[in-house]
Amino acid sequence: MVKVKESSGKAKRPLIVMKFGGTSVGSPERMQGVAEILEKHIRDADVVAVVSAMGGATDMLIRAATQASQGMEEPWKGSRQELARRHREVADKLLSAAEQAVVLPRLAEQVKHFEDLCSGFTLLREITPRGMDTLSSLGEVMSATLVSSILRSRGMKSEAVDAVECIVTDDNFGNASPLFDETTAKTRQRLGPLLKDGVIPVVTGFRGATREGVCTTLGRGGSDFSATILGAALDADEVWIWTDVDGVMTADPRLVPEARILPEISYREAIELSYFGAKVLHPRTIQPVMHKKIPVWIKNSFNPSCPGTKIVPAAKNGQAGVKAITSVKDAVLITMNGRNSVSFPQLAARVFNCLHLENVSTLMVTQSSADNVLCFAIHQADLARVKTELEKAFELEMLHDYVGGLEVMRNIAIVVTVGENMKGTPGISGRAFGALGRKGINIIAIAQGSSELSISFAIKSSDMKEAVQAIHEEFQL
Ligand code: ADP
Ligand code: ASP
Ligand code: MG
Repeated sequence: MVKVKESSGKAKRPLIVMKFGGTSVGSPERMQGVAEILEKHIRDADVVAVVSAMGGATDMLIRAATQASQGMEEPWKGSRQELARRHREVADKLLSAAEQAVVLPRLAEQVKHFEDLCSGFTLLREITPRGMDTLSSLGEVMSATLVSSILRSRGMKSEAVDAVECIVTDDNFGNASPLFDETTAKTRQRLGPLLKDGVIPVVTGFRGATREGVCTTLGRGGSDFSATILGAALDADEVWIWTDVDGVMTADPRLVPEARILPEISYREAIELSYFGAKVLHPRTIQPVMHKKIPVWIKNSFNPSCPGTKIVPAAKNGQAGVKAITSVKDAVLITMNGRNSVSFPQLAARVFNCLHLENVSTLMVTQSSADNVLCFAIHQADLARVKTELEKAFELEMLHDYVGGLEVMRNIAIVVTVGENMKGTPGISGRAFGALGRKGINIIAIAQGSSELSISFAIKSSDMKEAVQAIHEEFQL
């Protein structure tokens, strides 16, 4: 636990933002575990809790909304029952009678809100992005209501806070970005007095609101991001992300069962790993805390005594070479050939402008300037939009065969080796090539950032698991 000293020399209670993910609040037993963790840590620190929806709830809400917008009523009515049942079960098992009297009507209201929204979508046969954000983040509203009430049932002071009252975002519904100055002011105004009174705020993860107060979401898995946004706004001493694994591991444990916990990684390594698919962290988690250099811990709510992984501005010089491997499964490679008609810089400028217009980022870029060929990888989910945009932009050239048609290679995986200390360590690509070659895995493209923080390999999706295991073994991670 961090110890913070005031200028008077007196020890000040540190402030920690603790985020609990979907599995950590996934059942009455897990929610009780959360309460025990908080009970322990509030002895020495002020704590702001941030909660995800109960595991699986967000998927269910999104499915229900989609079915409603297709005019199907039965499926979302089934989801309504399930939503009510799961949250009711927690209330029945863990809340005091007095808390039940207050909270059960609140949960009923939230379920009614779900019903009203889904009825609207069914009637209109459509769902708008803002409607989807309000509905898909309802699970967080329900879990924050419950966790806070459990804490009060156990004698702690706590209040559920809807993040729409704290986090101000742009209006990019579904993947909104925080407006930091306004968020800082609102968060301090809303949470400051609670902390001063010894109240534990339990804030909804995942959601925020535009300046006009319309609910937005921060992208799937966004509660990690919520925690660091609030941590930065409150100048917290640390942010702790409680999840279902012991920390950031050398590889996704579902792909490599022997993966090992990394006790410490740098901000840059964490950003690189999460950008390339390590689900343990939302890709934008580190961004809010970078300037303030606030450490972020990944800890296991199923195994709270394990110290976990500390993510710090710059990790101590550890082993040379590769530190971890990550992978993105559902990628596509797109190749554009400018032939003799479009110069390479013009080709690149126009292609990237299309990506910019669709707000799509690339996973990998390679070029062959002499042949006027540009090749890049994106997530499969972005393909349709990008393809339409490129076909529009190059319509004339394609019609007259001045540029080669779009070549799309589907079912691609990008495997990425990450490590600050790969820089200056020769032979890493060679060893990875060798390891893949021995398994007969063909490398379709390779890219290395000039920062030498990561090396990416594009391969067939069907080879991904074997490739990650082979590289993990080669570097004895
Ligand atoms: P939460 O619901 O707590 O946010 P997530 O499911 O989003 O949890 O993230 C945790 C999961 O991330 C782990 O269960 C693990 O399967 C997966 N994961 C992928 N890559 C890694 C990695 N390198 N280290 C640890 N976990 C990883
Ligand atoms: N509940 C949201 C999701 O499933 C946010 C999160 O869990 O971080 O995407
Ligand atoms: Mg997550």
